[in-house]
Amino acid sequence: MHHPTTEARASIYYDYRVFEPWLPSKHPPQDRQKVLIAGAGPAGMVTALELARHGVPSVVLESELQVSQGSRAIVFTRRSMEILQQVGVAHRITENGLPWRFGNSYYRGQKVFRMEAPHDPDDRFVPMINIQQQYLEEYLIDACGASPLVDFRWGNKVVAVEQRGDHAVVQVDTPEGPYTLQAEWLVAADGGRSEIRAMLGGKLEGAAYEGFFVIADIRVDLPLPTERRAYFDPEWNPGNTVLMHREPHGIWRVDYQLPPGETPAEALKPAALKARIDAQLAMIGHAGAPWEMDWCSVYSARTLTLPDYVMGRVIFTGDAAHLLPIFGVRGANTAFQDAQSLGWHLAFVLQGLADARLLANHSAERVGAAREIIDEAGKSTRFMAPPSRGFRLLRDAVLSLSLTEEFVRPLYHWRTSRPHAYTRSMLNSPDDDNALFTTGPAHGAPPQNVRLAPDDHLLDHLGGGFDLLVFTAADAVPAPLLAVVAQARGRGVPLKLIAVSPGRPVAGADQTLADAEGHIRARYGVPSSGGAYLLRPDQHVCARWLRLDATRLQTALDTALAQQGPTS
Ligand SMILES: Cc1cc2nc3c(=O)[nH]c(=O)nc-3n(C[C@H](O)[C@H](O)[C@H](O)COP(=O)(O)OP(=O)(O)OC[C@H]3O[C@@H](n4cnc5c(N)ncnc54)[C@H](O)[C@@H]3O)c2cc1C
Repeated sequence: MHHPTTEARASIYYDYRVFEPWLPSKHPPQDRQKVLIAGAGPAGMVTALELARHGVPSVVLESELQVSQGSRAIVFTRRSMEILQQVGVAHRITENGLPWRFGNSYYRGQKVFRMEAPHDPDDRFVPMINIQQQYLEEYLIDACGASPLVDFRWGNKVVAVEQRGDHAVVQVDTPEGPYTLQAEWLVAADGGRSEIRAMLGGKLEGAAYEGFFVIADIRVDLPLPTERRAYFDPEWNPGNTVLMHREPHGIWRVDYQLPPGETPAEALKPAALKARIDAQLAMIGHAGAPWEMDWCSVYSARTLTLPDYVMGRVIFTGDAAHLLPIFGVRGANTAFQDAQSLGWHLAFVLQGLADARLLANHSAERVGAAREIIDEAGKSTRFMAPPSRGFRLLRDAVLSLSLTEEFVRPLYHWRTSRPHAYTRSMLNSPDDDNALFTTGPAHGAPPQNVRLAPDDHLLDHLGGGFDLLVFTAADAVPAPLLAVVAQARGRGVPLKLIAVSPGRPVAGADQTLADAEGHIRARYGVPSSGGAYLLRPDQHVCARWLRLDATRLQTALDTALAQQGPTS
């Protein structure tokens, strides 16, 4: 019998709500489900909301009765906000989070680099916004609760999975005992320690780094702006690194590396924590500032991924699929991109709009993204915590040179999470005009947002399925193009036709965006009337043309639905 704790987790700023468990005896017998999602972390809930956006119901099984212990992910990127906008929670993060775009690096007390994250006036969202993961999860729970297509079950733990060809049989344990569910697909979003991954023998590939970091969230009144602070080789922690971030509700995260040989248990003793936090506050000029601990934990950096996220009828996503170091704010930010991708790929397969090749594409694209992130995160990790004498010598040379030499200072600028471009995706049109464009988002890239009015942006208007942006000065969309659009819709493919026009509304388009100054056209690198972009349901570009005709559109849609190439 599964007995999740019913005692609210302790926190000095977050009021944990303990939800009622979902009990099988109170519900009628269950038919076979389309999708079960194990785990209601960021990855599981965004997957459920994305599936719902595409019209697919799911059952979310969460073993606990409350949201995440401690703040965990606190920094969310612009692309994450664009994804969260689509599932209806971005506004709550904007209202309650702390935006920022500068980072400062200090070496032995001297500021040696100031990073500025680019911010385009066309963007709706700031480069980064800080909010604790509990709030993010709360907003996602509210959104799931508001969706008739999400069946949320607290206190339901997946304990066994059996693959049966065209479905999975899943044993679920609850506070009143187990029950069985069948599903066409099981999404394993059960986190970094995924038991489902272990049950199915999934082997993560990659590296685990030595050395531990303490994360401590403290409440302290520091009159400092919301900016990232990184201290290399500080006096009180020689050879190591300390990071600080401001969080909402007067909380600061202090994240410090432990000297080699110190165990997590030693590091988490109250006296050890107190000495180090006092030393850090003293170093930044706030000796003796009163502070209170909310939550602390120890972690080590790992860069690991499964080589394939689809295993029979089980699809791994988020931390269950890969483990990424938190430097560069990659965990949750990557999970949103995984979930957004999985949502449409799986929905289209379930709706018969594409076959298994589309799911294989999801896995290939997201494993590719994880590998790119692992490569970048590995570099950051080696800079923050050099794994060998050689790396340390190199890192220390950069650090000491930076005191006098300007040119080495940008080396401090470790990359933060960014959206992966599916540059070599099989869904990209091979014979479009991608190579002829000199600017604008290219094959596989996420779209460029464009400000249309003070609170109105291009991405606000995308339809959730495929979007065809046609740049035209004509009065009407050509009839042969409309015929291809109608035929795709007739097959059930969601496709919105948006005309971007310098003048009047364009007949045949679902919507016309006025572009009298040619600003949208310029951002998309379209030199003249007749150009077009095809965006996938996750908004990434899969085709773009300087001149579009019906045959080219038909080919692009077939390619984007993985209807070319072998089935296995
Ligand atoms: C200390 C710490 C600090 C972090 N800081 C950052 C940061 O600053 N930035 C960042 O981007 N990321 C950070 N992360 C990572 C981030 O928290 C994760 O990447 C993110 O939560 C991944 O989401 P997920 O949904 O894949 O997994 P999780 O959030 O772990 O969710 C998994 C869910 O599955 C449930 N579950 C587990 N087993 C079962 C089962 N058998 N049946 C049903 N339910 C199950 C769990 O209860 C949980 O709710 C941090 C993580 C930690 C631990």
